[in-house]
Amino acid sequence: MNDKIIFGPAGNPIGFKGKTTQVCNYIAHEGLDAYEYQATYGVRIGENSARELKKNSEKNKIRVSMHAPYYINLSSHDPKVIERSIERLVQSARAAEWMGAYRIVFHPGFYTKYTPSEAMDICKKTIEDILEKLESLGIKKFTFAPETTGKKSQLGNLEEIVNICQSFDNFAPTIDFAHIHARGQGSIKNGDDYRQILSYLEKELSIERLHCHFTRIEYTHAGERKHHTLEEKEYGPPVKPLLETLIEAGWDSTIICETPLIDQDALRLKSYYKDI
Ligand SMILES: [Zn+2]
Repeated sequence: MNDKIIFGPAGNPIGFKGKTTQVCNYIAHEGLDAYEYQATYGVRIGENSARELKKNSEKNKIRVSMHAPYYINLSSHDPKVIERSIERLVQSARAAEWMGAYRIVFHPGFYTKYTPSEAMDICKKTIEDILEKLESLGIKKFTFAPETTGKKSQLGNLEEIVNICQSFDNFAPTIDFAHIHARGQGSIKNGDDYRQILSYLEKELSIERLHCHFTRIEYTHAGERKHHTLEEKEYGPPVKPLLETLIEAGWDSTIICETPLIDQDALRLKSYYKDI
């Protein structure tokens, strides 16, 4: 884990058949250094398993993050949805503490009938409720990492994610470059485009380690449509300019690979990085 940029899969490696608590043995053996635990359909891991996962990750020097459930909408007009979203993020924070996850990645929500600024106000109000609840439960060790979202209907363009992170302690962004690319209709073409994103982040936030997602992506006018492998070069965003720009800017970063070949493409990314 001495490299400034580390790589790992979004979820359990494709060939892995064992228990999730032991998955870091496999990931380390493959030569990777990060793992994003997927609580996509709900936080189902219990305390013992989560603590076991932590122990196993420490033994293997794997940096763990957690992806919170997808069904979260902090800017919903439905109070029940808000309530469930709060509950899911509270459960995520609790499990993340057990598991030693350094980031809790989540998608903030949707605009639905609201203007972006109204949706943002509701989102922030909901986050205040979450933080209050965590405090009352004595859960203290967490970093929420709202992710740049891939659809135009979702709250979470780059500026909005930065705004949320500026507004609260214990928040740091997850930069999903493919989502930015899809939302921007192919906006990332070269190193300059990456440089612009990174220097904006540097100017607006103080980030110790940049948490990123990467995949090649197909999009429509509404935004993200489908993830593609690194080999499918007809889809962006470009890979090597990203690595070059991160190296040049001196960022410590974690890149979680979200292509259909989560671990094999993470290895491919790592080998490109080593070549540069
Ligand atoms: Zn992502």
